[in-house]
Amino acid sequence: MVQKNLIDGEWIAGSEAFRNINPSDTNDVVGEYARASADDARAAIAAAKAAFPTWSRSGILERHAILRKTADEILARKDELGKLLSREEGKTLAEGIGETVRAGQIFDFFAGECLRLAGEVLPSARPNIGVEITREPVGVVGIITPWNFPIAIPAWKIAPALCYGNTVVFKPAELVPGSSWAIVDILNRAGLPKGVLNLVMGKGSVVGQAMLDSPDIHAITFTGSTGTGKRVALASVEHNRKYQLEMGGKNPFVVLDDADLAVAVEAAVNSAFFSTGQRCTASSRLIVTEGIHDRFVAAMGERMKGLVVDDALKAGTQIGPVVDESQLNQDTDYIAIGRQEGAKLAFGGELLKRDTPGFYLQPALFTEATNAMRISREEIFGPVASVIRVKDYDEALTVANDTPFGLSSGIATTSLKHATHFKRNAEAGMVMVNLPTAGVDFHVPFGGRKGSSHGSREQGRYAAEFYTTVKTAYTLA
Ligand code: ADP
Repeated sequence: MVQKNLIDGEWIAGSEAFRNINPSDTNDVVGEYARASADDARAAIAAAKAAFPTWSRSGILERHAILRKTADEILARKDELGKLLSREEGKTLAEGIGETVRAGQIFDFFAGECLRLAGEVLPSARPNIGVEITREPVGVVGIITPWNFPIAIPAWKIAPALCYGNTVVFKPAELVPGSSWAIVDILNRAGLPKGVLNLVMGKGSVVGQAMLDSPDIHAITFTGSTGTGKRVALASVEHNRKYQLEMGGKNPFVVLDDADLAVAVEAAVNSAFFSTGQRCTASSRLIVTEGIHDRFVAAMGERMKGLVVDDALKAGTQIGPVVDESQLNQDTDYIAIGRQEGAKLAFGGELLKRDTPGFYLQPALFTEATNAMRISREEIFGPVASVIRVKDYDEALTVANDTPFGLSSGIATTSLKHATHFKRNAEAGMVMVNLPTAGVDFHVPFGGRKGSSHGSREQGRYAAEFYTTVKTAYTLA
């Protein structure tokens, strides 16, 4: 059966379909999904536009109930949805279920936010005049998502968009349509009026581009590559629309001489290799001071030897496969580049054979890397990290900040002085002390600086900045 697109409340087959393949076992077809055309995208946009006047004035209890019901169903089905996610994306089952729970928590959070919509009332600078500041929805929101968090990223964009009264056209990544289809189905059955949320699965160059080119999309929230992010930005300037971009990272993880070695190694392994290194908050630059360098590298080697790389759904797997062949090629190309640049491949980096045909790669660690090398400057997006040796904290901070990106930045230290200084001076949207660079909460702001992000933060109450526009009303008393 082909899973269809949702346009104006109807499930639409379209003329083409595409297959969702399990990266742990390429013989396993997760499902077939309808591929939307540019015309389908335009129909979805028209439906969202038509639904906006009513939905934007809908009661907060109606919105609360729909988001609440969605949260409840996602949480009740966490094992099944988590398995679907791991099957289509390749992260381990524990990671897939964890991400699904997080999606449920996000819907729950925004169900609550519907009941807390508020403005401000204050006196005017002029006598006998009152001023009210209120938030209104932006209109039709276009949502374009990547493959690495198939349920959490759609959740953290769809939930606030609906909470604040916007209507939505949602285009998930082609590699992982299953999780997106499932949450749209849940939201639809939870009682969303027709046209409020439209699903258009398909190619970025066709469906995504039709969204960028439409004057009827008032805001676009995008997570994905830097190149596509630029296209979103340019098209949005053309249409004078609001846009929000989350793109790459090259996140540093600093390890100082005074670090607790076990804490540092655990955080570094998690940052660099969990979720197969396919997180925009992953760390691929381990910046280590001289006094601990050799002990850290040896302990990393020991820890990496024990990592179980296998089928995402198998019990005991710690690292699943790379998402697809083209990403695997990118990872192995960068491993070759690192060697050519003169870094030393200390551990891993080999392709692995398992019981089923899949994209298995042993996590790789380079040592003797410099921050000028391409492996230290460009986002690889795989289980590949390098150790950069530095003299002291000051050099570590300089190297950490010497990158075009600025999403997350971590440090392992037992020094309050250095931790405090790092929190203040790391040029990143998120800073972690004695914790992995990845792994963030659902109720606080997420986002970065420099080349990583553009626009206001996502998640938590800060999401209101993007999904609403502020109105200031004056009344003569
Ligand atoms: P990734 O490397 O994560 O696949 P992309 O930027 O290619 O990064 O993809 C992120 C999302 O952007 C996907 O949903 C993809 O289909 C979409 N996309 C790709 N090209 C375009 C485009 N020209 N216009 C709009 N969306 C696009």
